Amino acid sequence: MSFIPYGRQSITQQDVQAVVDVLTGDDLTTGPTVTAFEQAVAEYCGAQHAIAVANCTAALHIACLALEVGPGDSVWTSPNTFLASANCARYCGAAVDFVDTDPQTYNLCAKQLKSKLESVASAGTLPKVIIPVHFAGQSCEMREIKTLADQYGVAVIEDAAHAIGGEYLGEKVGSCQYSDMAVFSFHPVKTLTTGEGGMLLTNNPELAEKLRLLRCHGMTRDLEQMQTTQAPEPWFYEQITLGYNYRITDIQCALGLTQLTRLDDFISARRAQVAHYNQALADLPLTTPYQHGDSNPGWHLYVITVAPKQRRALFDALRNAQIGANVHYIPVHTQPYYQDLGFAWGDFPQAEAYYQGAITLPLFPAMTRAQQDKVVAVIQAFFSAQSVGSQQIAAQTTT
Ligand SMILES: *Cc1c(COP(=O)(O)O)cnc(C)c1O
Repeated sequence: MSFIPYGRQSITQQDVQAVVDVLTGDDLTTGPTVTAFEQAVAEYCGAQHAIAVANCTAALHIACLALEVGPGDSVWTSPNTFLASANCARYCGAAVDFVDTDPQTYNLCAKQLKSKLESVASAGTLPKVIIPVHFAGQSCEMREIKTLADQYGVAVIEDAAHAIGGEYLGEKVGSCQYSDMAVFSFHPVKTLTTGEGGMLLTNNPELAEKLRLLRCHGMTRDLEQMQTTQAPEPWFYEQITLGYNYRITDIQCALGLTQLTRLDDFISARRAQVAHYNQALADLPLTTPYQHGDSNPGWHLYVITVAPKQRRALFDALRNAQIGANVHYIPVHTQPYYQDLGFAWGDFPQAEAYYQGAITLPLFPAMTRAQQDKVVAVIQAFFSAQSVGSQQIAAQTTT
């Protein structure tokens, strides 16, 4: 059996044909397929507005800009995330801080958020924005987070890069029921792919309008947005703010649209694989993913934790068996760039303790039961060798 990656896209002939159809058509970018993909994702999630962009990092950047994050502001996120969730604030010149994670879900902890908000409120150093990250596809406790955010006048961007297709309190992640905006990633390791791509969702029409401007150079052809009051010439446009080229192509959105028709199949395959792992690994000395009662995750990642002293050896055993084990995530605040900004090991002990024992196992819709059982067998063999080893040590010390 060949190498089993930790994640992999699922591409069918239907996907290929949809891309070819756009390639041989009239619009390669900024055409009707982008709009169709936006509408389809908005409808799937139950949100009013969707804005497709080049990638999720770009989505996070313009989400911060739309909320007017800038120098002097502070943005809080989880230390257990990909770099982009923090970097987006730095692009805007804002400071970043972190809220430590929950020991069970590994998500930004709502209780710690509460005490951190309480402790900074009197000093007047509240964040402008909080970016909770739905780690592994499981929603954060958004109801609690949104209540706190409203109480302190803080905006909320959900980093839902892992979480398309999942549900929270009976609503699809991305509905923005408890946030100002949510963002998805369509990178190939994520649950739905466009090659590279991202999407912003919001129920706020003013934010949606700003995001569309920021996606494309801050330019508009809409008279209502322009400063001129004269009927514009047919070629006329105005740049009314500083935007970027964060557009996505129709080629990518064609793939996104056909992928979306299979999203529910992807999610049920992932849930079935998670259930199988949970059951097959139940009796081993490791922790399988915890599912919060408010959440029905789409499961982007399957993460186990083991004793820190065993992590490297188990990781190596998996890699030696051609299994693409991985680790998500090195806590962002420990990166040299963030250490240069004043953070250090020890600042967020929950995220650090989790990281010391974490291993991500392969999980993707096309993974076969045989591949999954191979992963399980390698882990079982690892722990039975460990227990034989420790019995030998015990025998040696008693004789
Ligand atoms: C992948 C990822 C991103 C960035 O997505 P891109 O589309 O690669 O820019 C942001 N946040 C999280 C949590 C991610 O996993």
